[in-house]
Amino acid sequence: MRIVSLSCRDYRNLAPLCFSPKPEGNVLWGQNAQGKTNLLEALWIFTGGRSFRGAKDSELVRHGAAGARLLLSFYSEEREQSAEIRIAGGRRQVLLNGIALHSPGELVGHVYAVIFSPEHLALVRGGPANRRSFMDAALCQMKPGYAGILSRYHRALSQRNALLKDIPRHWELEDTLPIWDARLVQDGERIVSQRKAFLSRLSVFASSVYAGLSHGAESLQIFYHASAPNFADNLQKEHKQDIRQGFTGAGPHRDDMVLQLNDSSARSYASQGQKRSIVLALKLAEAHILEECTGEKPAVLLDDVLSELDSARQDYLLNHLSQYQVFITCCEPQQAMNLHSGGLFRVENGMVT
Ligand code: ATP
Ligand code: MG
Repeated sequence: MRIVSLSCRDYRNLAPLCFSPKPEGNVLWGQNAQGKTNLLEALWIFTGGRSFRGAKDSELVRHGAAGARLLLSFYSEEREQSAEIRIAGGRRQVLLNGIALHSPGELVGHVYAVIFSPEHLALVRGGPANRRSFMDAALCQMKPGYAGILSRYHRALSQRNALLKDIPRHWELEDTLPIWDARLVQDGERIVSQRKAFLSRLSVFASSVYAGLSHGAESLQIFYHASAPNFADNLQKEHKQDIRQGFTGAGPHRDDMVLQLNDSSARSYASQGQKRSIVLALKLAEAHILEECTGEKPAVLLDDVLSELDSARQDYLLNHLSQYQVFITCCEPQQAMNLHSGGLFRVENGMVT
């Protein structure tokens, strides 16, 4: 997949622009608060994913404007295609090749990208929910149907949790618990098996990228931690406990992805640069698997990636991106000098030149 051009109107601070990136490396440089991240975010929302900054749709519209409009032209499935996103009144409307889609989520599977931004350091630093979202977001892009299974699981989980809270007041309801157990198990086991399969492929690539970044000095291990190794048994055994606490204590919604550096917990022991390297290794591995699954190379969006990396790590990273269309932001153009040939774009006051 290749991004051919992006036009937008009233999107955050971006001036009405038509940005035509190069098929290889694109360096977006400029001072703070000029619109570099906004530009990456504008590209990212075409994947159908949520804002990587956790922004609401209304925040994407320029202050004082009624609505924003974005138009992306991209080359995928051996033809040029277009996607349009209109955001107004807190609602998002999406058109693909001129045809309105029923929901913005239907864009998933047309425009592929992986994104690294400083927020993603929460993958190592933060709690398990960050790592579950990483696995789930990647699987949603790769496996049609996964998003549906996941949302059905979460619906069943909230209904089971509501029931658990009602049971102490209406003990007769306890008899209906096995119905919800069965629903959770049916989708929960599929979620766990897809996540495990994803991680076993991810760990091979991510470990090799990490070894490259650290020049072979450190090794990264990744594995899945299941909070309920036998989900069906576990749900049944824990009925009393779940009723007491009023929620479902174990299952895919409590699982984690364990990240270890040289056999020690990365969350507890890794340095800033090591944490950044781990997230990068995960993201580049995700790009690799996404390509294997879809046959399309995703765009690689790297926001403020170079800070905290020493020059050897920066060189390794920039030299290993040549197969992708890359968008990398930085404050000084020299920082990304080693990126393979491509375009140098200055971002200033919302304008890209
Ligand atoms: P840094 O190098 O500090 O990361 P940046 O170039 O990535 O800077 P952005 O995050 O893209 O900066 O933000 C650029 C500007 O856009 C900021 O001044 C921000 O306040 C402004 N901005 C954000 N949302 C809106 C909006 N809805 N309307 C108008 N301006 C906005
Ligand atoms: Mg920024």
